[in-house]
Amino acid sequence: MARLLEGKAIADKIKRGLLQEAGRLKKKAGHAPLLASIGLGDNESAKIYAASQKKSASGLGLDYRPCRLKVGTSERRLAEFIQKLNRDKSVNGIILQLPLPKHIDYRKISSYITVDKDVEGMHPANMGRLVFGQAKIVPCTAGAVMELIAATGIDLYGKNAVVVGHSEIVGKPVSLLLLDKFATVSVCHIGTSKAGKLADYVRRADVLVVAVGKPGLIKGEWIKKGAIVIDVGINRAGNKIVGDVEFNGAEKRASWITPVPGGVGPLTVVMLMKNLVEATKLQYGLI
Ligand code: NAD
Repeated sequence: MARLLEGKAIADKIKRGLLQEAGRLKKKAGHAPLLASIGLGDNESAKIYAASQKKSASGLGLDYRPCRLKVGTSERRLAEFIQKLNRDKSVNGIILQLPLPKHIDYRKISSYITVDKDVEGMHPANMGRLVFGQAKIVPCTAGAVMELIAATGIDLYGKNAVVVGHSEIVGKPVSLLLLDKFATVSVCHIGTSKAGKLADYVRRADVLVVAVGKPGLIKGEWIKKGAIVIDVGINRAGNKIVGDVEFNGAEKRASWITPVPGGVGPLTVVMLMKNLVEATKLQYGLI
């Protein structure tokens, strides 16, 4: 029976380190690292994310500045606003709250955030550093997945890692981070499923990371005995939240498995705060 890989305990350990670092950086700069959050309009889920980020920041001695712009703000005005924050030395990190209104192209607009303040790790230059194995700021959920894997104590060198899902925020960065550890990485996606090969790949995985958004996509019987299973998926099933992996079958075969909820989720916002601290250190030439 698998051991549960719970995010909270790991998050608490990271938080203790961040609290100390925030204090040190505050002494150095005269102010705590500050995250500016930009939201357009009044979207409910964007407000919920922002509230949770604000709570997390204040618990760690980090500052949070909510910036709310009108829903109809043009791309050009938004870009100007971001550039103003880029120049503002009291701001150490910038995050755009999603979802953005339809007239805003997220990929285009997020590239206006200067690379050293890009706490989401989505700037093309941060993605490039990831490819070069020199990542300083990694996308939060991908960072959370790597923390969970590290907590198992596994040496990834030469292990078969299978990543299901190839999104920019999870699948692709996780694959690169696993490659950096010399795992042999296979990246599966809708094409793998359509070709009828998903089960074959999953069966080989010593480490399996799933980020798709389809409940029960990964069958319990596909899991290799002793595998580490990281389920990133978040799906609503009636009044329950479930992942992408059939948990009951998988936990009988895996050595470690993340619960959903309670696995990756609790770590994601902490990784955002970690990125803010790293970004601040980058700006002061400390790393
Ligand atoms: P996405 O929605 O951008 O992409 C989905 C991926 O799944 C694509 O690579 C697609 O090819 C693949 N896919 C779709 N159907 C498939 C199938 N039948 N077989 C194999 N692959 C298939 O992905 P995302 O934004 O990374 O989100 C994935 C899931 O992770 C969602 O449930 C999302 O809610 C969750 N998520 C959780 C967190 C967290 O903090 N826990 C963070 C981000 C995303």
